[in-house]
Amino acid sequence: MAAGFLLAIYEIRLRSIFKDMNDLTNIESWMQIRPEGLYCAPADCFIDPHQPVEHALITHGHADHARPGHRRITATAETISIMQTRYPDDAPAIVDNVAYFEEKTLPGSVKLWFAPAGHILGSAQIVLEYQGQRIVISGDYKRHEDPTCKPFEVVKCDVFVTEATFALPVFSHPPLNDEISKVIRSLAMFPESSHLIGVYALGKCQRVMHALREGGYADPFYLHGALIKLTELYESYGMSFGDWHPVSDLKGKSREELRGKVVLCPPGSLADRWSRTLPDPVMAMASGWMQIRARARQRRAEMPLIVSDHADWKDLIRTCEETEAREIWITHGRVDALQHELTLGGIKAKALDLIGREEEAE
Ligand SMILES: [Zn+2]
Repeated sequence: MAAGFLLAIYEIRLRSIFKDMNDLTNIESWMQIRPEGLYCAPADCFIDPHQPVEHALITHGHADHARPGHRRITATAETISIMQTRYPDDAPAIVDNVAYFEEKTLPGSVKLWFAPAGHILGSAQIVLEYQGQRIVISGDYKRHEDPTCKPFEVVKCDVFVTEATFALPVFSHPPLNDEISKVIRSLAMFPESSHLIGVYALGKCQRVMHALREGGYADPFYLHGALIKLTELYESYGMSFGDWHPVSDLKGKSREELRGKVVLCPPGSLADRWSRTLPDPVMAMASGWMQIRARARQRRAEMPLIVSDHADWKDLIRTCEETEAREIWITHGRVDALQHELTLGGIKAKALDLIGREEEAE
C-alpha cells in the first residue's frame, strides 16, 4: 500500500519534470540562434540582428543592437527616430511603430509587446508569447533611476534573455548624484578650467546633462558636434537640458568663454587635438567602466565618473530572480560569471554566444 502510494507520487513528480522539459524544449524549437542573431521561427523575424534581414524587432537604438539595412523594423517610436537620425540614408520599406504595452500579433499567431528597459530613450524589452509560453528579450537594461527614459519593469516569464556587460561581483554602480557632485565640486575649485566630460552620444550624454542640472549646474553646456543631433532628438521627445551651444560656435579667443563651463564630447575626442583647443581642461569620462582604473587611464580621464546605463552585478541577479523565469539565456558580456552565479542559486542558465555585441557600446 505504502509502496503504491510512493510510486504514485513518484509518477506525478516525473510527469511534472517531463512537462517542464517539454516546455523548455518547445521554447527552443521556436526561438533559435541563427548566424544573423536570435530568431523567432513562427513569426519569421529576428531580434537585434547584426546583419540585414527581412524583419527585425529592435530593442533600442545603440548601434550594436540597431543596425541599418533591414527591410522591415518593429520598434518603439523613439527607437525608430534614433535609427532614422543615425542612418538617414537607410529607410526600411516597412516601419512598425509599437508603443510600450501595446499588443501586436505577428505572423504565426505570435503575440508581441514591449516593456520599458530603463536603458536609454525608447529602450524596450521585447516580450514574445507563443503557445502559452512567454520569452522576454531585455536587450540592455538598468534598474538605477534615469529620468531620461521610462524605468525598467519586471515581466514574469518562462525564459528571460539578459545581457551580462557588468556581470562581476566587483561591479557596483554608485548613485549618479555622487558622481555628478564630483563635477560640481571641481567647477567650484577650478573656476578657470573648462570641464570636459567624455560621454557616449546616445543616452549617456543626455543623462549626464540632466543630472548636472539637477545637481545645480546653471551655466550653458557646450557640445561637441557629434552629440548635437541626438540631444535635439531627446528634446523633441520632451526632455529639457536648459541652455546649450555647439562648441564650434566659439572660434579662437572666444573659447575663453569655456572657463568654468561644462563641455561634452564623445570619448574618442578626450585624447585628440580637439580637446587641446579648450582652456585648461579638466578631463572627465562618464562610463560604467570608470570603476576600473586602467580604463580611466586609457581614456586619459583625470576625473573618472562611474555612470552606467547597464545593470550592475546585484541588479542582474535580482532581475533574473524577479522575472521568475525557469531559464535564463545570457547574450553578451561576462557570461560565465553570471551563468555560474545563477546556477549556484538553482536557476538554469545558458550562454547564447551571440556575435556582434560590443562591450564598449554603452
Ligand atoms: Zn545599449
